[in-house]
Amino acid sequence: MGLFDLSGRVGIVTGGNGGIGLGIARGLAEAGARVVLVARDSIKGTAAVASLGAGEHLFLAADVTSLEACRRVAAETVERFGRLDILVNNAGIAIRKAPQDYAEAEWRSVLDTNLTSAFFCAQACHPAMKQSGGGKIINIGSMMSLFGAPYAVPYAASKGGLVQMTKALATAWAGDNIQVNAILPGWIDTALTATARAQVPGLSDQVVARTPAGRWGEPEDLAGAAVFLASAASGFVTGTALPVDGGYSARA
Ligand code: NDP
Repeated sequence: MGLFDLSGRVGIVTGGNGGIGLGIARGLAEAGARVVLVARDSIKGTAAVASLGAGEHLFLAADVTSLEACRRVAAETVERFGRLDILVNNAGIAIRKAPQDYAEAEWRSVLDTNLTSAFFCAQACHPAMKQSGGGKIINIGSMMSLFGAPYAVPYAASKGGLVQMTKALATAWAGDNIQVNAILPGWIDTALTATARAQVPGLSDQVVARTPAGRWGEPEDLAGAAVFLASAASGFVTGTALPVDGGYSARA
C-alpha cells in the first residue's frame, strides 16, 4: 500500500465538481490526499466537496481558461495546505457539430477550455511543485486523442494536443522530479456524454457494442489509474498516455 499512499499529499482536480473529475477526486481522497476541487459552479462544488467525506478538502470557484485564475488557485492551495503535489487537468467541454458550422468563438472556447487551461494550470503549479520536491501532473485526454469523429473536430484537436503537451512537459520537468502523464478515458457515463447520447443517434448502443468490456464506464473507473499516476508507484513513468477504456482502443 505504501507505494500508492497519498497521505500528506495535496492535489488539485479541475472540473472536480462532478463527473470524471469527482470520480478521480474520490480516489485521491481515499488514498489519503487532501483535494482541491476547481470548477465554475459553486453549488455543485460545495456538494462535491461534502461528498468526499472525512478529510480536509476544499472547493475553489474558478474559470481555468484564465491564467490569472489558475495562478490564484495554485496560490490559494499553497496558502491553505502549505504545499502542492498533484494537478489533474480534467476540465473540459464539447461542442458537437459539422466542422463547417463552428463559429470562431466556439472553436476558441473548446481549445481554451480543454487544452490551453491545462497548460495555464501546469505553468501556475510548477513553482509550488518544485518547492515540494516534485509533483504529478495528469492530463485527461480522450479516445479523441487517438481517433477522429465528424462531429468533434475542435474537441479531437484539443485532446490530441493534450497528449503532445504531456510528452513535451514530461521532458521539460523530469529534472524537477515532476512526472507528467495523460489518461485517455473511454466512453464514461457523465453529464457530458448524456448530451452526446441525446445529440448522436444510436451512440449509446454503439459504445456498448464496440467496447470489449461490454458497458459504459463510470467516473470511479478512472480512480485507480489516477492514484497510480499521482503516487510514488509511478515515479519512473512520465510522458505516457494510458487508455482506461474497457478495451475500446485495442479493438480494430
Ligand atoms: P462533465 O461535463 O461532467 O465535467 C466537466 C467539468 O469541467 C465540470 O466539472 C465543469 O464544471 C468543468 N469545467 C468546464 N469548463 C470549465 C472552466 N472553464 N473552468 C473550470 N471548470 C470547467 O464531463 P466529464 O466528467 O465527462 O468530463 C471530464 C473530462 O473528461 C473532460 O475533459 C472530458 O473531455 C473528458 N472525457 C470524458 C469522457 C466521457 O466519456 N465522459 C471520455 C473522454 C474524456 P463547471 O461547469 O462548474 O465549470
